[in-house]
Amino acid sequence: MIKIYSQSFRTYLKASTINMTQLLRTFKQYLSAFLELIFPRLCLVCNRHLLKNEIEICNPCCHKLPKTNFVKNPKDNLASQLFWGRINLENVIPIYYLKKEEALQELLYELKYRGNKEIGLELGRKAGQILKQEDLRSFDFLIPVPLHYKKFLKRGYNQSMVIAKGIHEILPIPINEGILYRKHNTKTQTHKNRYERWKNVEEIFDVRNNFSLAGKSILLIDDVLTTGATIESCAKALSTIPETKISILTIGLASH
Ligand SMILES: [Zn+2]
Repeated sequence: MIKIYSQSFRTYLKASTINMTQLLRTFKQYLSAFLELIFPRLCLVCNRHLLKNEIEICNPCCHKLPKTNFVKNPKDNLASQLFWGRINLENVIPIYYLKKEEALQELLYELKYRGNKEIGLELGRKAGQILKQEDLRSFDFLIPVPLHYKKFLKRGYNQSMVIAKGIHEILPIPINEGILYRKHNTKTQTHKNRYERWKNVEEIFDVRNNFSLAGKSILLIDDVLTTGATIESCAKALSTIPETKISILTIGLASH
């Protein structure tokens, strides 16, 4: 008799758990519909309401971002040529062309100056998917270009790290942020000419505990490739580690 009671009690418990789960799910659906009504999720580019699977940018706007397709020829392209005769890089892969007053500029501005980390993660995921499609994934570490700690404290995050995290969600390559660091804080590169940009970032990066990266393949991550000065300075610091292979990935390639 006790056995029968305990069995039916278990069945009752099981049924109530299912009901509770359904109830919670329905509540969550209502809550997200309500939040959507008050805080609608809109595309950062065209302001259209986003679908469930879209994050910060709608699919049509994303398809319109001008891809460089350098992922198909990562060793010899317009961007890799910036470094020829200066430093030995394995692959140079800017994902999109960055043009003034176009969508990507607005998205990267959101990431860098308006605290919108979600768009950085999403652009990182897109970059990760592009690498995956081309089967370009044999990297041992992702290393985001570091910010000086003063800038980090001011902004609260490193935009290159956010992009690296997005890539990591698609390709499970470990992120290493302990080895490369910025020795000096520098003024923004935005209003400097080509020569001033090179001088501004010369020898500002260094590496610590570098033995763990010996012989490894590194993918260095940054938001934008402009003259290549910052990237080259990072790559030079990393190239002091014996037998490292260094590749570069940026979301944007600024027009020259
Ligand atoms: Zn849109």
